[in-house]
Amino acid sequence: MTILTDLKERRRLAQARRQPHLWFTPFSVPEILERVRAEHFPEAPPDVGLFSVNRGPLACIEVGESSPTIYVHQVLNHAETPEEVFTLICKHELLHLRIEPALEGKRLNQHPSAFWEAEKTIAPERRLAWCWIWENLGDCLRRRPRLERIDVQPRWPEVWSRQMCDLSFCRDLLRRTDKAFEPSSW
Ligand SMILES: [Zn+2]
Repeated sequence: MTILTDLKERRRLAQARRQPHLWFTPFSVPEILERVRAEHFPEAPPDVGLFSVNRGPLACIEVGESSPTIYVHQVLNHAETPEEVFTLICKHELLHLRIEPALEGKRLNQHPSAFWEAEKTIAPERRLAWCWIWENLGDCLRRRPRLERIDVQPRWPEVWSRQMCDLSFCRDLLRRTDKAFEPSSW
């Protein structure tokens, strides 16, 4: 959920992807990316890379000299992670290619208000997807507001091996609460 700018971290992620993880999902995550790209981001290059890696934030996009690459943390690579979560991640990361960070004071804001507005328009699943993420994985996630990212803590396999709740549980929960699971800023 962030743009990868740190050079060392970029190298580490590039290394991590040499041990690619197979997708455990019952659907194809690369196909979701391609569908999202074709439907919402026709201007994005067709060869955006996609890797599941055991490090880094929940998700991020690297925009280097070659094609952009999306890294999804292994914690999301679970047989029960709903398609909606990957759809949202693909939309969010590709949106970073369209809406550039804005300089606000001395700080570069990767998620200016135009970013969130655009995300709301194209991602009706965002509230549901974030509800699922926080309900199931929240115990191993850590918000890093200044870095505009959500880190996955090393104890994630413990959380990963628990029983996950499904989207119908989240739909029901969202009907009963005003709580905002989805970010409107970090
Ligand atoms: Zn982001």
